[in-house]
Amino acid sequence: MFESILLVEDEAALRATLGDRLRGEGYVVDTAVDGFEAVDKAANLPFDLIILDLMLPSRSGFDVCRDIRQAGMATPILILTARDQTTDKVVGLKLGADDYVTKPFEAAELIARIEVLLRRVPIRTGQAIHEFGSIIVDVKQSKVTRAGKPVYVTGREFQLLRYFIERPGTTIPRKELLQAVWGYVADSLTRTVDAHVASLRQKLEENPKRPELIVTVSGTGYKFVGDKRS
Ligand code: CA
Repeated sequence: MFESILLVEDEAALRATLGDRLRGEGYVVDTAVDGFEAVDKAANLPFDLIILDLMLPSRSGFDVCRDIRQAGMATPILILTARDQTTDKVVGLKLGADDYVTKPFEAAELIARIEVLLRRVPIRTGQAIHEFGSIIVDVKQSKVTRAGKPVYVTGREFQLLRYFIERPGTTIPRKELLQAVWGYVADSLTRTVDAHVASLRQKLEENPKRPELIVTVSGTGYKFVGDKRS
């Protein structure tokens, strides 16, 4: 199966060389040269990943990232930033990007990051649309809505949510989540899982302090109990 990437980059030379390199890795690549084209294509075509340059004419990568997430699309976004500034990375991640690479970069490093972001959580149920009370999760379109309104989730959050949904009522250790969704094996990084679960609760739970959808299993991990609400 060929995975598709939208490459958003205004520099023609980089767009061409990076596009060729990605095609050489077996990806289907489409390109956008500015923020308007990027949002238009992201909204109308199915992509598995978006590579997004921050410094774009007319609309910045930040605007594009925010628009895509506000539309409820959870497609993983990898930011390219020429500025090696911590603030850019933090703002990008806050606006819903999943990872970033600083220019100039080695193509091999970028491809490694892409592979990690595209690591697919295997589908178990084969069901494309899941409903939990007022929440609807569309796996095929990577979209989440709550009471009919799009919910702003990142690619990672979506992958995590999907992993939970496909294992209802099962206690899942943090370590398993870390490995399945992030591809990490280090125990020291399980706080990453906690931070993403906390963020999902803020977005999906009626009372994030007393979660009913993703519950904590003390000392072990988490359990998805969404089926009780539907
Ligand atoms: Ca640029």
